[in-house]
Amino acid sequence: MTETTPGFDTRAIHAGQEPDAATGAVNVPIHQSSTFAQDAIGALRGGYEYGRAGNPTRTALQEQLAAIEGARHAFSFASGLAAEDALIRALLKPEDRIVIGNDVYGGTYRLIDRVLGPWGLRHQVVDMSDLAAVEETVTGGSTALVWVETPSNPMMTISDIAALAEIAHRAGALLVVDNTFASPSLQNPLALGADIVVHSTTKYIGGHSDVIGGAVMLDDDAAAEKIGFLQFAAGAVSAPLDAFLTTRGIKTLGVRMERHSENAQAIAEWLQGREGVKAVHYPGLPGHPGHQLAAAQMRGFGGMLSVSFTGGGEAARTVAESTRLFTLAESLGGVESLVNHPAQMTHASVQGTELAVGEDLLRLSVGLESLPDLLADLDQALSRL
Ligand code: PLP
Repeated sequence: MTETTPGFDTRAIHAGQEPDAATGAVNVPIHQSSTFAQDAIGALRGGYEYGRAGNPTRTALQEQLAAIEGARHAFSFASGLAAEDALIRALLKPEDRIVIGNDVYGGTYRLIDRVLGPWGLRHQVVDMSDLAAVEETVTGGSTALVWVETPSNPMMTISDIAALAEIAHRAGALLVVDNTFASPSLQNPLALGADIVVHSTTKYIGGHSDVIGGAVMLDDDAAAEKIGFLQFAAGAVSAPLDAFLTTRGIKTLGVRMERHSENAQAIAEWLQGREGVKAVHYPGLPGHPGHQLAAAQMRGFGGMLSVSFTGGGEAARTVAESTRLFTLAESLGGVESLVNHPAQMTHASVQGTELAVGEDLLRLSVGLESLPDLLADLDQALSRL
């Protein structure tokens, strides 16, 4: 019999998830312990000594995360931004330069500009879907990292991961992909040539809006050692309960992403051409500029879309405050549908910068509810316009 790599759902359910050796419990226990007994000084049972350095529940999650992203190494952090911070500080030094997409998550920009800027990191912003502009910017100075989010938040711009990896590598830089919107179920950037993947596991990976977390996945052993050291030395690790909740979420990621994608596709098509709607941004629509590319580098178009209104900011606010099933809230990727006004909510920190988002835009995180109920809710909200 030849060895084949197990399918995505098999890896999601079984990687790192051996039944507990002591009891046979089929779920990895929540090892709610800050420290671990030593049989003699330095004689550790299973390699664990102190919870910041390692915890078996976190180890199980990290193995599962590596398996679903197809990476040799994965590190689980207390939040997506903690993961980003550790990755950048582990691999870069003051005076290094990072080139980031002009539509990255507002918090990522804030971290790079206002926290890591004073530390010495320099950054430049570019449209990652414009490969000629990226090439010019990346080669125009000594760039250490290129950072792309695809699909991007909130405009759903699709960027070519393989082409960006080539550009970055020609310039001696690494390519980081924030894969939060697609999730490892729909897109695996490492297989397309990227060097490092980051996730806010708060979103689809956790999937139930009940835990904040982040992850870094990569193949390179030397870079992994540096990230592992910073995770231990600076300490922004996942807590045991958070690790357990994330592990539980991952087991259903594949089926959830199928339903998220189905519901979002139907809603995007339904919104198109409706009175009061100016534009619908969803890569599953044939008219979306990134449709072909998304079809090639993703295995589904995902559950996120954004929509702008002819009535401007007032219309967007009216719809956001009129939905009943779509909860008005930050975040995304949970089983429940959410609506968000990026200009005043998730992207408020980048208003007035080149990453600013239009007031007329709403972002929808389409959940797993019954489609007719979601459509009825949007219909009654749009009827207020
Ligand atoms: N990356 C993306 C695409 C996000 O949407 C977010 C959060 O909204 C983050 C990173 C940051 O993750 P966290 O909120 O878990 O720190």
